[in-house]
Amino acid sequence: MLAIEGCYVAAADAAGTEYPSGYLVLDGDRIAATGAGPVPAQYAAADRLDGAGLLATPGLVNAHHHLYQWITRGYAPDEGLFGWLTTLYPVWAGLDAGLVHASAAANLGWLALTGCTTSTDHHYVFPAGRGDLLEAEILAARRVGLRFHPGRGSMNLGKSSGGLPPDEVTEDHDTILAATQDAIDRWHDPAPGSMTRIAVAPCSPFSVTADLMRDSAELARRAGVRLHTHLAETLDEARFCQETYGRTPVEYAEDLGWLGPDVWLAHGVHLADGEIARLAATGTGVAHCPTSNGRLGSGIAPVRALLEAGAPVGLGVDGSASNESGRMIGELHQALLAARFRDGPLALSARASLQMATMGGARCLGREDELGSLEAGKLADVALWRVDGLAGAGIADPLCTLVFGAPALDRLWVGGRPVVTAGELVTADAAGLAAGAAAASARISGHGQAGT
Ligand SMILES: [Zn+2]
Repeated sequence: MLAIEGCYVAAADAAGTEYPSGYLVLDGDRIAATGAGPVPAQYAAADRLDGAGLLATPGLVNAHHHLYQWITRGYAPDEGLFGWLTTLYPVWAGLDAGLVHASAAANLGWLALTGCTTSTDHHYVFPAGRGDLLEAEILAARRVGLRFHPGRGSMNLGKSSGGLPPDEVTEDHDTILAATQDAIDRWHDPAPGSMTRIAVAPCSPFSVTADLMRDSAELARRAGVRLHTHLAETLDEARFCQETYGRTPVEYAEDLGWLGPDVWLAHGVHLADGEIARLAATGTGVAHCPTSNGRLGSGIAPVRALLEAGAPVGLGVDGSASNESGRMIGELHQALLAARFRDGPLALSARASLQMATMGGARCLGREDELGSLEAGKLADVALWRVDGLAGAGIADPLCTLVFGAPALDRLWVGGRPVVTAGELVTADAAGLAAGAAAASARISGHGQAGT
């Protein structure tokens, strides 16, 4: 048992509870107690950690990502989504299990160092005969020690059939459904405290057929797992949906059974008012990815309106090829700025940004009962930030240091297990992860040149 005392506690619970000088007791994989003042006498036997100068928050939940992209950062730096994708598809065609493992392990190590305790992933590129790519990233998550919700992604609408991706990176409908069912059977753990849960995640309207979307939703609901896809990201996508299906992206998704409390959608940038209401009414979640949306010039998601309507909204860094910094804590700052660029100074507060990155993400994943806030009985997924020192001293409010400022992560626990201690990754060798990613990046870039 570990008792952290004398820290600022931001519980990020429904009431927005904060203790300027409080404590947190971790017992096994759960939070045993939290409150104001000193640690109660009943926990006297616990190990002690002095929390002076530190801010405790729930571990951050990354609601949308593509881990394999860590090794293909810096490509097509001035392109919009479709130009960026068509530059990168031939490079990604070179993926194999070794490359995915190296990329995912380095990327997850970096996410941990920026406060993330639970990450989703959306892997949708499965070139034939390159090993088990989903296994490769799940083993990477176990190596680094993060809670992991990978989506078994897919693409089956290649260029020859009117889609955007080249045919070489697509699979056929039946292969995809069989592999998705296998992934659920092999990896999905629905038990409390689960470290691995699978989602069903066809990629996007312009890379997946309507039939596959419909059948994927049926498969997910039969298996009791969640559904994830990209939607309403760019105006190019909206045009594609109008020309191909005669529908907006949200109308198209609803036609196919893709709105509901078991669905969360990446982006939701281009939404009409009625569509925002429809997402909220159906309990459909949105993973907001402001850095990626800015990097690709996609637009600014109507986060204020989504939150006011009551839709679950989480935060995601999105794939590292469209967010080279990939910092989970940085995404809180970007979300705040993006919302204010769009809707003015009251559009999003620091506390609302933290809520989005914690409970908002937990709601997207259907895990609000055990993740997303610091409350007794919840999983001990905790981030401890330095809000003193050069970066933090002189900022009046630790939550402003966290979101407006430049906090340094001091410690991170996932299910009570230390992942970061004194600012260093302790579950894996960071230098080794970086060397692995560098070698993988060099290898796949060679493929891209040969393949184009
Ligand atoms: Zn994405």
